[in-house]
Amino acid sequence: MSLHGIGLTRAKRVRTPGFALPLPDQRGRHGNHICISNEIRDKVMAHIDSFPKRKSHYSRQNNFNRRYLDERLNVKRMWLLYLQHNEPIQRILYRSDKKSMKSIVKYKYYLHIFNNFFNLTFGRPRSETCPSCDKYDILLKAEDDIDKKKRIQEQRDLHQMRADSGYQTLNWYAQKSKTDDTLEVYTFDFQQNLPAPSLTAGDMFYLRMLWTYNFGLHDAKTEDGIMHLWSEAEAGRGSSEVCSCLRETLLKRHETHRADHLILFSDGCTGQNKNKAMMDFLFEMAKDGVYKSIQHIFLFRGHTFLPNGRDFSHIEKRKKVEKVRRPTHWKDIVKDSRLSQPFEVIFLDHKNFFDYKALADANLKTTFKCSDGESLMFKEVMWFSYGKSQEMSELMDAEIWKPHSEEVWCRYTHNRMEPWKKLNPIKRMKKNQCAPKLAKKYAKPIGIKAAKKKDLLSLATKNLVDEETKAF
Ligand SMILES: [Zn+2]
Repeated sequence: MSLHGIGLTRAKRVRTPGFALPLPDQRGRHGNHICISNEIRDKVMAHIDSFPKRKSHYSRQNNFNRRYLDERLNVKRMWLLYLQHNEPIQRILYRSDKKSMKSIVKYKYYLHIFNNFFNLTFGRPRSETCPSCDKYDILLKAEDDIDKKKRIQEQRDLHQMRADSGYQTLNWYAQKSKTDDTLEVYTFDFQQNLPAPSLTAGDMFYLRMLWTYNFGLHDAKTEDGIMHLWSEAEAGRGSSEVCSCLRETLLKRHETHRADHLILFSDGCTGQNKNKAMMDFLFEMAKDGVYKSIQHIFLFRGHTFLPNGRDFSHIEKRKKVEKVRRPTHWKDIVKDSRLSQPFEVIFLDHKNFFDYKALADANLKTTFKCSDGESLMFKEVMWFSYGKSQEMSELMDAEIWKPHSEEVWCRYTHNRMEPWKKLNPIKRMKKNQCAPKLAKKYAKPIGIKAAKKKDLLSLATKNLVDEETKAF
């Protein structure tokens, strides 16, 4: 009798009392127990530790020590790589004659060390789930008091209602833009970084990759996907880079669309999207009269369902099968990854980026006070409005347009009934002071760290990367 391929003997062995874990496979050992020495254990631990790991920039509070390994790895692959280095004959046997394998370090042992001595996982170092929902779940599980439990549940329901309302707002505008020529609706997000080289040869997993960033912009009206690619050796991926991409593409597309109103949706990541650089950039854009009004609406991460995710999944599929040697190879791969409506690809270098952050620091006040006297809770804002906005009339029976070129209006929810908070963000200039100017952010490529350079050069000696990559 065998259930899921697990025979009775194995089931018995797994249940042997005194062992939290199944014993290593003893087949072919004729009862001679092999004790794994501390030396071997240290070797396995050092091996697991030798893979490059990344931290999450989202779930720091929830799971501080968690690190992320390359998404193309799994524990079995890591174990096979261990054998390749330490027990090469066993690695060959694994491929040719699994039954006669007698490796010292069995897969189960490797897995045991991986699970019990490390806090590692594979894939994206950005939590797909929402950090707030995760937090409420943990609190609910830990709480025994019924009243307190109820209060946490209420908070969680409120949070989820707010998150849903963001998604509904996106859907409403996206649908409206398809038939309304006065609207341009875009969503934007970064894709998970694209690696180069992307070969799956064994040694690769120990080495640091050269990443290519992809900032995706999705037009809800036309379903166009516009991908902005650049190498990590050229520029960073912060607020100035996001504003630079948006300016380049929005202005170009506006020449054909010519819409009055621009509506933007993104997650509320403070480093990239919800910050002063973005505020200053959109404030100036509305003031210049490119659009009559600009709305920037934030969605909760983990509840975003941005159409960009669908765009990126086409690229992710191609990423699994393509061999990439250098960042520029991504250009064609990304372009052709959606067959029905190929993406527009813009390949950028350091010269394309402007220092919007420095400009905002020079232009904007340090803290913002609203016209009602209250300080603005910047992080809590879910909706910024520039140029002009619709406001409920005194009788609350209709929305009327009100221009406000000297003010930024904002809301803490997606609710159109919520009265706007109004503020003047601009610092008062000193007499005879020149207006700050927008400057290029980088005089030269930012380059890469020494350790990464060493790794890429070692790949170069094996001819796995080419001259262009070596140039970094
Ligand atoms: Zn949530």
